[in-house]
Amino acid sequence: MTDTAFLRLPFFEPRHAALAARLDEWAAAHLPGLIDHHDVDGSCRALVAALGRDGWLDIAVRLDGRFDVRSLCLVRETLGRHEGLADFAFAMQGLGTGSIALFGTDEQKRAFLPTIRAGEKIAAFALSETGAGSDVAAMETRADPAPGGYVLTGEKTWISNGGIAGQYVVFARTGAGTRGISAFVVPADAAGLEIAERIDVIAPHPLATLRFTDCFMPEANRLGREGEGFKIAMATLDVFRPSVGAAALGFARRAMDEAARHALGRRMFGATLADLQLTQAHLAEMALDIDSGALLVYRAAWAKDRPDLSGVDRITYEAAMGKWQATDGAQRVIDKAVQMFGGLGVKKGVKVEELYREIRALRIYEGASEVQKVIIARQVLARYQNANKV
Ligand SMILES: Cc1cc2nc3c(=O)[nH]c(=O)nc-3n(C[C@H](O)[C@H](O)[C@H](O)COP(=O)(O)OP(=O)(O)OC[C@H]3O[C@@H](n4cnc5c(N)ncnc54)[C@H](O)[C@@H]3O)c2cc1C
Repeated sequence: MTDTAFLRLPFFEPRHAALAARLDEWAAAHLPGLIDHHDVDGSCRALVAALGRDGWLDIAVRLDGRFDVRSLCLVRETLGRHEGLADFAFAMQGLGTGSIALFGTDEQKRAFLPTIRAGEKIAAFALSETGAGSDVAAMETRADPAPGGYVLTGEKTWISNGGIAGQYVVFARTGAGTRGISAFVVPADAAGLEIAERIDVIAPHPLATLRFTDCFMPEANRLGREGEGFKIAMATLDVFRPSVGAAALGFARRAMDEAARHALGRRMFGATLADLQLTQAHLAEMALDIDSGALLVYRAAWAKDRPDLSGVDRITYEAAMGKWQATDGAQRVIDKAVQMFGGLGVKKGVKVEELYREIRALRIYEGASEVQKVIIARQVLARYQNANKV
């Protein structure tokens, strides 16, 4: 019995609890028939199509550029609790179009958003490079000026949906430093764009390295002004970072459901696993990690949605706290669940084994936990430095 008491926190409005309940029902009815773990590309295509058909992608792909981050987070948490791949398919349609929704012209929005929102085409976000992961500013992919546009040259790696996406938002260098990065919408069939390598990871998702060789992009495909790419990437991540924490929460709640049920049923030493106090300590620690993660994730989402109440414009600090606690906390929760399952916990096909693999990358992408710590510490220090100046 998944804990839904958090939906009564003051961060939420009644429509949020209704959304979570509706999606929970939808996921239980539809997801089992959509996922084949031996065919992740096919599963992602089927998931995106179903999520688009039934209107769920409207929450991730915003034609008006206005996101309800609490809804975004609740959808990711709910889907993540059911199926990691469903969360991935939903989230990437949003991350892959967030920059267009936030910074695109009306014409660009009309051209690049509706098919993604309908689930007819798949989206991707191409920021990282081999030499530029945490250190985004080290990127080397170039967009050199050419008559009527730019020529892209270089490689992007770790690109989710690489290979199955119909369009990519690509960040490339048009000058020096962080103000020398620009963003482009690149159709997958653009001449000069190829999939250099598909990447296999411990929790299989479509993932690839993209290679750009003299790939011409017209000026009409540039988002925002030249040199605004870093700002566009950061603003997009500001919206989506809390939702990574929410997905982790979904994994953690599922691990709790599995572990508690297992502990209550597993007989040992003349009692059940749940009767043993060491197990109860595990369960208490798991509950603490889940609740603290939920409080921090939904504080960030609420702060972003309600600047009138939170007084916060950018949620860099709140999002960093939410992502760090929820993802690292979920890793601890899932590890304990695996432990409680004993040998079964590492058997392929058992849900906690899948969760154990699924959670790991969330502590690395969209800013590794160490990056979140640096962000938080900088803001704490700035507060004291500013106070000392007065
Ligand atoms: C499954 C998966 C999906 C991804 N999807 C996408 C995508 O769709 N689009 C995209 O653009 N990118 C994507 N990425 C890339 C991801 O954002 C990068 O992997 C991430 O930014 C880390 O970069 P890196 O792998 O180069 O590691 P590095 O930058 O080399 O960092 C290695 C480690 O150094 C540590 N570290 C980082 N900063 C500090 C610090 N300041 N102090 C101390 N230690 C530190 C962290 O532990 C980090 O994990 C994805 C990655 C994975 C694994």
